Amino acid sequence: SGEDLSKVLATRILDVPDYPKPGVVFKDITPLLGDPESFALVVGAMAEQVRAAGATRVAGLEARGFILAAPVALAAGVGFVPVRKAGKLPRATYREDYVLEYATATIEVHRDAFAPGERVMIVDDILATGGTAVAAANLVRDAGAVPVGLSVLMELDFLQGRRRFAKAVPDAGIATL
Ligand code: AMP
Repeated sequence: SGEDLSKVLATRILDVPDYPKPGVVFKDITPLLGDPESFALVVGAMAEQVRAAGATRVAGLEARGFILAAPVALAAGVGFVPVRKAGKLPRATYREDYVLEYATATIEVHRDAFAPGERVMIVDDILATGGTAVAAANLVRDAGAVPVGLSVLMELDFLQGRRRFAKAVPDAGIATL
């Protein structure tokens, strides 16, 4: 139920102050992953979002997005596509550079990862500034598919990732738990 989900999110995602650097509060999802009932509840809810969006593929964002996206894809009965950090995928890719707080990052997807026009749900653990999610949506588009949604466990509201993603990908929904 929704009540159980809220409880899982509140009790099994830990705030770790000053990690990885002073001023950042890191959201540690390992307690959630380590509890099979919590993990199953979260995966089931995300899989329902995939079905509701009519997505036929789940794109998971390296690294923590993979942990959620793979079981979500299986539960929803659709395929999983890894969106990886630069240099990790073995065949021809599309690349997207984006700006982080003090650096730039690059993510990639295989050129043939999606069927033309296919509906794709992007899955990650946390929506922060939205930079990663927007870059992933751009990759989905580059690869000829349609980003129809973003599914995350939680968002850090003060970083306004929702606004950034909605502006860049206006036709995609944003689903939190
Ligand atoms: P962003 O591109 O700013 O939305 O950052 C999103 C990515 O960074 C996600 O893949 C998250 O896993 C990770 N991330 C950003 N901020 C945090 C945080 N405070 N705690 C845990 N993960 C975070």
